[in-house]
Formats: sequence, structure tokens, C-alpha cells
Amino acid sequence: MKTAEPEPEREELHAFSIDYLKQDGPKPGMLVHRAYHVLHVPRLMPACRALGHRPVVDGTKGHTNGLGHERRGYRWVCCDRCGLRTSPQGDLDAAQWSIGDAYDAELPGPWPHATGGLSAEVVVGRNTPGASVGLAVGSAGDDHTLSAHIRLSPLGAVYVHTEAFGTWLQRRLNPTGYDTRVTEAGIGDGRLHWRIWAKRSEHSMATPRWRDGSVVIDPRDRLLGELRYSYEPFGEPVAAVVRMPEGDDHEVVLSLRRVRRGRKRGEGVLSWSAEWESGAGIPFRNHSWKGDEVTASSVEVSDGAVEQGRWAEEACAAIAVRVSAMRTRYRWRAPVDEHPEIEV
Ligand SMILES: [Zn+2]
Repeated sequence: MKTAEPEPEREELHAFSIDYLKQDGPKPGMLVHRAYHVLHVPRLMPACRALGHRPVVDGTKGHTNGLGHERRGYRWVCCDRCGLRTSPQGDLDAAQWSIGDAYDAELPGPWPHATGGLSAEVVVGRNTPGASVGLAVGSAGDDHTLSAHIRLSPLGAVYVHTEAFGTWLQRRLNPTGYDTRVTEAGIGDGRLHWRIWAKRSEHSMATPRWRDGSVVIDPRDRLLGELRYSYEPFGEPVAAVVRMPEGDDHEVVLSLRRVRRGRKRGEGVLSWSAEWESGAGIPFRNHSWKGDEVTASSVEVSDGAVEQGRWAEEACAAIAVRVSAMRTRYRWRAPVDEHPEIEV
């Protein structure tokens, strides 16, 4: 007597949402940042229901790894339309079956219930600057089968993706390999950029520009050159001492620099900056086994201080203000000397 195959377990439909502003704290200018997920949604698949699944051989290609070891490819059975794999999926002989072959032998296991997921992320208010719109088709190994987004800062953005829904389309457009294919266009940083059926994680020089490229669209960038900072050393470096409010002194070397913020053509805005370095560093954080020190940075100094020859004094005061703020942030405490020298 033969017993019936046990019914594969059916997981319950499950919907939930996440409020990121509540979870991660408020962000300036952002009014809503929420994600909505529905999991284990039954897939309709009318063609598969009416005609039955269409089993074909699916799998991975074998390759030789960096150590010269040969990795064999794997083969299993899936439905060419809906992408479902039998459960258990089995392990077919790769020498006998090629990926894409129609499969007419006995199935390694029964077909499972077909479910998928739908997700959306909604932002209202300020987010990543600029605007973009795009579509993506996942690879066979991706959790996200199809994705799309539209972003229009500072109004908002909507990102949606499916899990398993749209597998028919994914199997037609991007059946092999591990690369998500992206088609999108956007503006940001004064440039228009685009990607046309480009591999998501690949930014190679070999990729043709029509497939993954950008152009400058800000007319000021075109006419006058892009906005940049430039620094020029001014005079010799000088030695100075930074005294912190707690009373600890730190030797530093200061170098004055002329700063120009502007475009290639045109005047630009001039200012002064003092770059500083300290061999031992100025402590701002207590660690149980070691301290943390800041050893170099730069501060702005005023035109007047440079004119009057007291830019180094102003720089030392600015460094003390900066490091003091870091001490507050990291709740720094002056270390207690555990072995004070006894005066005789
Ligand atoms: Zn199917």
C-alpha cells in the first residue's frame, strides 16, 4: 500500500510595516519614512494552474577558482514559467543535463505552494538630493525579483520590489548569472546620469558610455568649470602650544594656507585655514586600555588675525574649542594619576 505524499506546509500571509523615523530617530526635513511588507502572498500563475508547470533544467555553471580547483556546476529542475523549484530540488547529473533543457524524466520532488512577497518603502520630505527614476530586474540568485523607484527630493520617494512575483519576466530577461540589471536616469550634483540594462555592481571602464554614463548639465559648471576648493601654502610652518580648558598643554605645528573656493574661471572666494599636527595628539576619548587622540586637522582663521600676525594664536584657540567639543561628545574625563610623585 502506498501512502499519500505529505502536503507541503503552507505559510500564513503576513503583513507588517516599519516606521524608520521612530526606529532610527527623526531626520531633518523628512516627514515620513516607512516600509510596508506583505509576505507569503499566494501567486496566481494562471498559465501554470491551467496547463501545469513546465519543467526545465536550471542550474549554475561550473568554473575553475583562483587556486585552480575545479568547481562543478549544479543542476536542478524548475518551472520555466513561474520559476518554482521542486521540493526537494534534487541534484541532476551536470554531464547529462544542460541548463535550459526541457525536463521529461521523473521529478525529484513535488512542486511546492507558490508564494511571494511585495514591499514598498515610502519617503515624504527631504531625502537623497536630486531626482531619479529606475527599474531593476534581479538575477536568479536575487531575493528581489523586480524593483522600481522614483525619487524627487525634497518631495519624497517611493521604492517597490517583488519577491518571486514577476519570475516569468525575470527568466525571460535575466535568466543566468548573478548580476542585477538596472535601467535608470537621474539628476544630481549638477549632472544627468543614466544606466541602461547595466550590471548593478559593475562600474568598469570597459562599460560603454551609452550603457553607464553622465553629462554635466549645470550651466555654471559648463561655462566656468566645476566648483572646487584649492589650497596653497603661505609662509613657513610655526610651532605653538594648544592649552585645553582642563589645563593640559599640547605642542603643535601650524601651517597657514590660502583657501580658494571657486570655479576654474571667475574670482572665487578667498579665506585662510591653519593646518595643524601634533606628534602625541590631543586626547578626547577614554578607552579602558588606551586613549584616543586627534593628531591632525585644520581650522579656519580670520583675515584680521593674518593681517595682525596673530593667526597662530587664533588657530590654537580654535583647536581648543574643536577638541573641547569632541571631549564633551565622548564624555572625556581627565585621567587620574594613580602614582603621583611624592615631593620630598
Ligand atoms: Zn510554473
